[in-house]
Amino acid sequence: MWGARETVSLNTDPVIRLLEELVAIDSVNPSLAPGSRGEGEIARRIAAECKSAGLIVDVVDVEPGRPNVVGVLEGRVPGPALMFCGHLDTVGVAGMDAPFVPVHREGRLYGRGAQDMKGGLAAMLGAARVVAESGGLERGALIVAAVVDEEHASRGAEALVERWSANAAVVTEPTDLDVAIAHKGFQWVEIETRGRAAHGSRPADGRDAILRMGRVLNRLEAIDRQLQTQRPHALLGTPSLHASIIAGGTEWSSYPDQCRLKVERRTVPGEAEDIALQEAGAVLDHLRREDWEFDAAAHGVFGRGAYEIDPANPLPAMLIGAASAAGCQPRRVGMTFWSDAAILGAAGIPSVLFGPGGAGLHSPGEYVRVADVLKCRDALVGLAREFLR
Ligand SMILES: [Zn+2]
Repeated sequence: MWGARETVSLNTDPVIRLLEELVAIDSVNPSLAPGSRGEGEIARRIAAECKSAGLIVDVVDVEPGRPNVVGVLEGRVPGPALMFCGHLDTVGVAGMDAPFVPVHREGRLYGRGAQDMKGGLAAMLGAARVVAESGGLERGALIVAAVVDEEHASRGAEALVERWSANAAVVTEPTDLDVAIAHKGFQWVEIETRGRAAHGSRPADGRDAILRMGRVLNRLEAIDRQLQTQRPHALLGTPSLHASIIAGGTEWSSYPDQCRLKVERRTVPGEAEDIALQEAGAVLDHLRREDWEFDAAAHGVFGRGAYEIDPANPLPAMLIGAASAAGCQPRRVGMTFWSDAAILGAAGIPSVLFGPGGAGLHSPGEYVRVADVLKCRDALVGLAREFLR
């Protein structure tokens, strides 16, 4: 049935068969692509996988038909808890001919979500199964959490930390088998300039809102230049900002009375939660001082903080040890993208990211390296055994 079946000969490991199944299930985030089915079906498959591996399973709707799945393997005596966490949803499938047909080619598995992040999900579920089937855990608990909605508003991770906690977590987002100990955050700000509508032939009456936004854009570009020349964060580089969407005006022959600009600011650890709004506010204040008629406002729309694990936390070193023993050559790195690790971290669960390599995230050519999925699984098994000894 799947293209995968004919071409597979080496990929008979149960983790890769599970990965093929997960890629074959449509779990496009319905908030990104209205009408999509969401995470219900993949959640059922993962709940069944946890059950058959002997885990205790907790399935809770975050929104109707969109459940988080948590599987727990309990040790023989109480002790610390280690969590593996991954998201069930994917971005949309525009431009893909057969997004849910997993195809193997040259050691890669192609399909929507293969790398982001069904490869990581399969690896963490596979790791829990190996631990369960090879004598179980001496102490503590291994928690595997599969959450909804990471690609939109991360309501799944927010719901997860209300019910569950752990002493450490690995988010199995794609890191090319490096150990990511930090990632950037982002803030979205909307700026509106207001003018006065008038016939295009009557400059004395009109106030051009779009040209006024030009002044704002000039100053934002200067801020971006300044941000990108400041001293970089050791792993994440510098912060930055860019204009995302602009809209204004109604017709050729009229002065536009309004222009709206959406701006995104990417942040590094240590920056204020409202830094983007502060910067936009300072720009508008400056332009008002230059021109008493300048009329504009800015407001914050959404944002998520940057993340960095406490440098004294032993988790990264422990995972690097386990990954090296599994045949990886992990480095400590930072990721540019935001992740649920920030939500876990803010809830008091020290977290790192560690997942298989591949390419084409959020694009039609998405793939994950099959060998990396197996190494990721083996590294997670080693970490669980070490952490829950
Ligand atoms: Zn992801």
